Amino acid sequence: MRILVTNDDGIYSPGIHALATVAARFGQVRVVAPDAEQSATGHAITILRPLRYRRIKLADFEAYQVNGTPADCVALGLHHWDGADLVLSGINLGYNLGHDVWHSGTVAAAKQAAFLNVPAIAFSATFEVDPTYEALIPGIEQVINLLLESTRPFLVNVNLPPAPQGLRWTRQSVRSYNGHVVAGTDPMGRQHYWFAARPLTDPAEDTDRWAIEHDLISLTPLRLDLTDETWLANSTAADEQAAAHRRLLAQSRS
Ligand code: MN
Repeated sequence: MRILVTNDDGIYSPGIHALATVAARFGQVRVVAPDAEQSATGHAITILRPLRYRRIKLADFEAYQVNGTPADCVALGLHHWDGADLVLSGINLGYNLGHDVWHSGTVAAAKQAAFLNVPAIAFSATFEVDPTYEALIPGIEQVINLLLESTRPFLVNVNLPPAPQGLRWTRQSVRSYNGHVVAGTDPMGRQHYWFAARPLTDPAEDTDRWAIEHDLISLTPLRLDLTDETWLANSTAADEQAAAHRRLLAQSRS
């Protein structure tokens, strides 16, 4: 099995080294990751300048750094390797729970693999200045084994608590936030801002965030289709709007 390993914290992050080490127990590993941190860049791709794909020394791994985003790394990595059987992204320095999934470069890298028809898993854990991953490695192995089964979801967002007590399949937590922004002044007297939004509600049971708060490894199956299917299926408004549009077209023609 050929496993492409990537992240959004940069190729020298301790998390990617830990993930590549675990991945090597399952197959042949190639590491392709950004040359600098790309956290919270989401699913950005680079189209206004050329990209470089450069071999570097990273322990005993075949490793390449890219001057681009996590999604760029997966696209270039799969191109150069002529595909892969699995893409692993992480271990991110910080959870990717709830709305984080929209901003996360770690999840976007996995999503890019799914775009290219390769199954993928994103791994995230709490932020630590000097992380040690020994406690997480059995959980990561367990998750990879689980997701190698034929019934696995194609794209999974995994979050690992510091001392996991079990696994839980979860939904993405959706909460309202207060949109708080903190204003300050820089040494030159110019105004600057920090995003400091706080959630207004507690996480619902069986969501990713709820699982982490209960010391459970959270596995959230994700899909690429964001369509609001419930609304489409239940709402007569869609039919009414389509009918109104047809009437407008008919009027404009007459
Ligand atoms: Mn990150």
